[in-house]
Amino acid sequence: MRILVCPPKYFGVDYVINPWMEGQIGRVDRPLAQAQWQTLIESFSAHATIVEIEPEDGCPDMCFTANAGLAAFDRVVPARFRMPERAGEEEPFTHWFTHNGFDVITIPGHDPFEGEGDALFQPGAPLLWAGYGVRTALETHSILGQVFGAEVVSLRLVDPRFYHLDTCFAPLPNGRVMYYPAAFDERSQRAIERRIPAADRIAVEDADAMGFACNVMRLGDKLFLNQASNELKSRLAKWDLETLVCPVSEYLKAGGGIKCLSMILDQMDYAEITPPPPSAIRATEVELKGHLLDTGGLNRALDVVTEAGCSFRMTSLSLAERKDQESRAQVHVVAPSKERLEGVLAALMAVGAHPLEREAPATLTAVTQRGVAPDNFYSTTIYPTEVHLDEGWCSVHKQRMDAVIVVEPGPNPYARCTLFRDLEIGDDVVCGIGGIRVHYSENTSIGEFSFMNASVSSERRVEASVKAIAWEMRRIRDRGGRIVVVAGPVVVHTGGSRHLTSLIEGGFVQALLTGNALPVHDIELDLFGTSLGVDLSRGKPVHEGHRNHLMAINRIRAVGGIREAVQAGIVQGGIMHACVEHDVPFVLAGSIRDDGPLPDTLMDLEAAQAAYAQAIEGADVILMLSSMLHAIGTGNMTPAGVHLICVDISPAVVTKLADRGSLESTGIVTDVGLFLNLLADACRDSAA
Ligand code: NAD
Repeated sequence: MRILVCPPKYFGVDYVINPWMEGQIGRVDRPLAQAQWQTLIESFSAHATIVEIEPEDGCPDMCFTANAGLAAFDRVVPARFRMPERAGEEEPFTHWFTHNGFDVITIPGHDPFEGEGDALFQPGAPLLWAGYGVRTALETHSILGQVFGAEVVSLRLVDPRFYHLDTCFAPLPNGRVMYYPAAFDERSQRAIERRIPAADRIAVEDADAMGFACNVMRLGDKLFLNQASNELKSRLAKWDLETLVCPVSEYLKAGGGIKCLSMILDQMDYAEITPPPPSAIRATEVELKGHLLDTGGLNRALDVVTEAGCSFRMTSLSLAERKDQESRAQVHVVAPSKERLEGVLAALMAVGAHPLEREAPATLTAVTQRGVAPDNFYSTTIYPTEVHLDEGWCSVHKQRMDAVIVVEPGPNPYARCTLFRDLEIGDDVVCGIGGIRVHYSENTSIGEFSFMNASVSSERRVEASVKAIAWEMRRIRDRGGRIVVVAGPVVVHTGGSRHLTSLIEGGFVQALLTGNALPVHDIELDLFGTSLGVDLSRGKPVHEGHRNHLMAINRIRAVGGIREAVQAGIVQGGIMHACVEHDVPFVLAGSIRDDGPLPDTLMDLEAAQAAYAQAIEGADVILMLSSMLHAIGTGNMTPAGVHLICVDISPAVVTKLADRGSLESTGIVTDVGLFLNLLADACRDSAA
């Protein structure tokens, strides 16, 4: 075997391009570095032919020859470095390959590829493990597969300390590997596990990984490495591999180990180059339009791509010159597989990107099992969506998130969001992401989410936003719009009952969505003056008070329901009384915690969800008051365009609502009793 090395004449840490280099500029002990290199090369020379390339002044990292390219079968794909600091090495290495009998095959375009650093053959198999995510671009992997006739398994690196695959992964003979799992994303860890049975892989411990134990040069049954714990040595010995420790501490200062210092020139472990299986890598082009910079839309989209383990290249970007103009970006997205590309495209569409090749009609697949969607179903977002059918684009009705789209064909096709449980055999469900257009709305306000920077909103800011909310509610009421209130029992416990009652009486509430507890404690308050046994006027528990809410439930059960109790004069005031008196519909969704329950509480959760969904239809504003359970439940079924106002003492609950993807939300972190007090006053004032 021939190994290409480069004397470390100009080696040093002169810049910082990886975390190991931080704090090491000018700190390399050059004589020691030279001595370590010399010892290493002498050790290699007993087992391989050493070939040297002349070092270049100004290229301090050129001694790391593994990054020069990938060579096999007299072919070489030379590196194109991601970091400009190393670009100067490209020319001398390519020159050397050309003059030493290699067929030099350059990867077209500008995508970076850092040689053996990110591409390692499995000994004896036409299988190439290829890293991406930090230095090498995913796009280059399919070309490597074609050049070397190898199947490529793409592995995404996620820890900048392990910036090259060879820093955390070492293929070994007999289909074995040793690697540092934490350097890879979850999917790549699973890909390694699927390929290599547990008995054939060693997951190295942190200390060995940090000592570059995976950065190993294998010559026959000898493994040369910088460090190996006794445990690692003995595990490798069981695989008949001898560990030879050659310290290269000075090179570790630059983030390089033994493998980095050596490039294999003739790895011909498999018989010949045959056509590889088709590459799994897929790419497409998406477009983003709008206020991409000021709304953070561009960042959001690029984050979606990166978080999905895919890579991107911006192919065009035209920035608006004025605030009222739109910016436009086209992004080339590359994914390790067709499924991953579909997944990332669906996520991109949810943040407003439009795939450019998407004129084909949507794929419809018929349901074969009641209540179960076809595997590849498209899952909906809160944003208005259209489906491309043979007849043209068709709007989707009953928009909500986490549903599927069912198309009723015909001359006037109809598409609607449908929950799994409502799917019938034969329903045509939209599958994949082709032929779907999502109208992401970005011209909305983030409301008062800045409040979340502080754990509790300042009183003055609560007052200011309450005034704005009251103004909006007044306008909605006056034009016959719909304000839906979702509330939890804390409203009653905090003394907010009478304020919510006054809002209902004032015509500011068109539907009330809650559970069993709010009406129970509201009625308890009306009948006994307590809420959960606490006298609200004095703030003190009353004797035997804990029975009060049970007695309230019992009385309502006796007459058959809340309406009946109001009509019979048993309940004479409070929130539920106001709803009945003012014809405000209410839906009580049951839960496992419920006492009683009240006869009005829907204990069939599917029926409760359906009743909630019906109640929010046409809502302009949904006021979510201190009920995490019901607020999130309602948020999930609400389409974009409805202003959600979430009031909760816990910032996490408010954030959770914002995370559903709608920007049309106002979050207020405060006590709900105080909020309702201010709101009722503000609504009264604005009505005056
Ligand atoms: P939840 O945990 O879903 O929501 C309560 C929310 O109130 C939390 O987000 C919390 O942060 C917030 N909160 C607490 N104090 C606050 C304050 N002072 N100001 C503003 N926000 C405040 O619980 P939930 O909605 O109360 O109840 C969940 C389910 O349990 C409901 O279905 C309810 O009917 C049921 N439940 C039944 C009974 C009963 O039948 N006796 C009693 C309690 C709850």
